[in-house]
This record gives sequence, C-alpha cells and structure tokens, in this order.
Amino acid sequence: MIIALRAHATETDIQTISDMVCSLRYQPRIIRGVEQTIIACIGDELSNRSLEVLRTLPAVETVFPVQRKFKLVSREYHPKDTAVTVNGVQIGGGEIAIIAGPCAIESYEQFRAAVGDMIDNGIRIIRAMPFKPRTSPYDFQGLKIDGAKIMRDIKKEFDIAYVSEVPGAAQIEILNDITDIFQVGARNAQNYDLLEHVAKAGKPVILKRGMAMTIEEWLTAAEYLVVNGCPDVMLCERGLRSFDKTTRNLLDLGAVAVAKQLTHLPVLVDPSHAAGTRSLVPPLSRAALAVGADGLLVEAHPDPVNAYSDASQQLTSSKFNEFLDDIKPWLELARLNKSRINETIDG
Ligand code: PEP
Ligand code: MN
Repeated sequence: MIIALRAHATETDIQTISDMVCSLRYQPRIIRGVEQTIIACIGDELSNRSLEVLRTLPAVETVFPVQRKFKLVSREYHPKDTAVTVNGVQIGGGEIAIIAGPCAIESYEQFRAAVGDMIDNGIRIIRAMPFKPRTSPYDFQGLKIDGAKIMRDIKKEFDIAYVSEVPGAAQIEILNDITDIFQVGARNAQNYDLLEHVAKAGKPVILKRGMAMTIEEWLTAAEYLVVNGCPDVMLCERGLRSFDKTTRNLLDLGAVAVAKQLTHLPVLVDPSHAAGTRSLVPPLSRAALAVGADGLLVEAHPDPVNAYSDASQQLTSSKFNEFLDDIKPWLELARLNKSRINETIDG
C-alpha cells in the first residue's frame, strides 16, 4: 500500500504513522519529496489488515492499495489457461465450447424437444433451468422440483451434461446429483454466502458477471469460489445495465479481453441475455469469438415465440444448425488464434 501524506505533515506525524504501519505488519519506506512525503508499505495486502483505516488520520491525504483483491484466479499466479472438461467437452485451454438450451424447462415435451435438437447439432452440454430467478415475482419462476424431475428423466435417455442455475443455497442439494455444472446468475454474482456454498458442492461453476459489477469485483467473486475449494470456475459476460434500451444489456466485450489477460479461467459469453433479440445473437456471438471468448452460452427453444420466458431472444432449436453455420468461420479462426497463443506461452 502507498500512503500519501498531506503537505503539512510533521516529522512527528511521519513517525507516528510509520509506527502504526509496523504494528499492522507492513514495513514502511519513507520517500521525502519537495512538497509531500510518501510512505511505501511493504507487506501482503491479502493476508494483512488493510492500511486504508489510516486514511482518517489528519496527516494522511490518501491510501492506495497496490495489490489486486484476487490472487488464485490471476494469470500472474497461474500463467497457463485453465481448462474445464465436462462430459468430454473441454472449455478453455484452447478449446471453444458451445453450451445451449432453453431459457427454462417448461414441460417434459418442450425440454425433450430442445435437448433432441441440441444433440442433433452436436451440443453435449445443455442449459437446464428448473429454477428461474426473475426480477418480478409475477413472472414464470420455473417448474422447480418438477423441472428437476424432467431433467433426471431426460438424462437417462441422452448422453448429456447440464448447466443449472442455483438461485439460493437450498437448491444446491436438489440439483447436486442431476446437474454437472452450477450456474450463479447475474443477480447473485455478489451473493458471497451462496458462492461459498456452491464452491463447497465440488462441481464446476459458471459465474455470470453482475449487471453493474466491475471486472475486479467479478474476478474477486471468482476468487471466493476458488478459495472455497472450487478450482473449475468459468466466468461469463452477459451484458451490463445501460442507458440504451435497444439491446437488453450492453455486452462488454472489452471486459472479455481484459479478463482473458487478468485470469487463467475460461471466459464465456452469453449473447442471448446481452442481445435480448434473436437476430442479434449471431453477430454478438461472432464478436465474442473474435475477442477471445472460450465459449458461448446460447438460448434455444423448440417454439420460442410461445416460450414462458425470454421469448424474443431464444433461437429456434430445430434451426440451431443455421446459427452454427453462421459462426463457423469465426469459430475456426478463434481456435487457430488460441492455438497460436498457447504455443507462445508454451515457448
Ligand atoms: C440465465 O442464464 O438463465 C439467466 C437468468 O441469466 P442472467 O443471470 O445472466 O440474467
Ligand atoms: Mn433467459
């Protein structure tokens, strides 16, 4: 941490602050400028108490933390990409995964049709959402336990893995033996108690970025998962709250590029919740692949117009091949680019 003192700070102030710094287990180094004195404090900011409490002293102008709030998820700590493999599908580490399925499970027939269409298109990891955390309590909340039963029945028939959102700790137990990946949604991305519980369940986790979350907060939330015993964390950018209603959310592709630099974890993009409109899903997917995303999380429904939730953004599952054809050149280019980057890291 760096402490910048006010111009009027006296020698006694400098001594008192240095003593406080020592008592907080940092080593102070005093740098005297013409007008101002700076105290550089050496010590691990993650394990020591923060020196930001000293900001309230009259002789202190400001205190700057130097270290980031995350460590285990950082590229400095682990330079090579982490790959998460689920049901034979590798996510990250040079591979690009497409995960798809309906917004919500609505009935046995609807979910089975969607899964069948996904299988026909080579998709092996399916969005399976019996619980739907919705902004309004009057909107469809999912089939809940009945939806989980449908998931279980359909899994007997197909070789598939599921991604399922857990809106609260209570749903972890219900879904634990059915789902392969837990999703923590945008509205829960800073629910630290939930993150701790999900991490301890021992499955891979997709962590959506909250709609008003900084990149540092997003990676620090991922750190919660890793610190609590979950190494297989995947981040997912799904768009931020913005002033422009033309798209449902503002897809922050810059954050995807930044996250790829700062962390070794796979970074996915959800073009569906970002776009809010079917026709925008292919272009946003192409852009996501161009910027380095390790995978896409796409909504597809057998009859999207009559979907109980997110009707306007879901692709028609029986036409999913058209979407895959559309993004194919970008997918190939993105894979080529990733193998080039990995060769450079491997030296
Ligand atoms: C979802 O993926 O079903 C979902 C609700 O997404 P988000 O949390 O990004 O809104
Ligand atoms: Mn949805």
